Amino acid sequence: MKKVVFATNNKHKLDEIRKITTGRIEILSLSDINCNEDIEETGTTLEENALIKVRYIKNKYGYDCFGDDTGLEVVALNGEPGVYSSRYAGEQCNSQDNMNKLISALQGADNRNAQFRTVIAAILNDKEHLFEGVVKGEITTEKRGSNGFGYDPVFMPSGYNQTFGELSDEIKNGISHRAVAMEKFIAFLGIK
Ligand code: IMP
Repeated sequence: MKKVVFATNNKHKLDEIRKITTGRIEILSLSDINCNEDIEETGTTLEENALIKVRYIKNKYGYDCFGDDTGLEVVALNGEPGVYSSRYAGEQCNSQDNMNKLISALQGADNRNAQFRTVIAAILNDKEHLFEGVVKGEITTEKRGSNGFGYDPVFMPSGYNQTFGELSDEIKNGISHRAVAMEKFIAFLGIK
């Protein structure tokens, strides 16, 4: 089976992606290749940040690899928090703080439309590629559910009346931004 490094140590993302790719490709994490550095995400777009990570791994470790960057893009906030989603409420803040800030920012807003957008950058045989996955939905007025991570409890995907925090992993992994981007990546690899 083909081995590819996923430039992350985020256990949630590794679990999600390993579930999506079971039996199709073997995913190695950064700790699997003994890469313990914190790769700084200094880009101003999701595309730049995803490329920063994979270029670093390829240059330093030589592996074929892929990395993702995800943002929650809220229409009424002109696409914010976007590339800054993980630090929306401040550098030291956690997901609860980020969700609280988002709920406050949208208080009274009529338009609660938002999308999660994932960009996967891959370096395969010395060539760079980008893959995008989007899931549209809306931001709820309060947190609901405790599944998943990040903004899941306040994001309700279109066509559902439960948030990602309430939906099962199986359902989320079938429709998520990351799943859509991953399926494009897997199709590109020619793996069925
Ligand atoms: P990252 O750059 O992919 O790590 O994602 C940036 C931020 O977006 C993280 O802090 C997460 O809180 C949030 N995020 C990414 N993916 C998801 C998801 O699937 N559900 C909820 N939040 C997410």
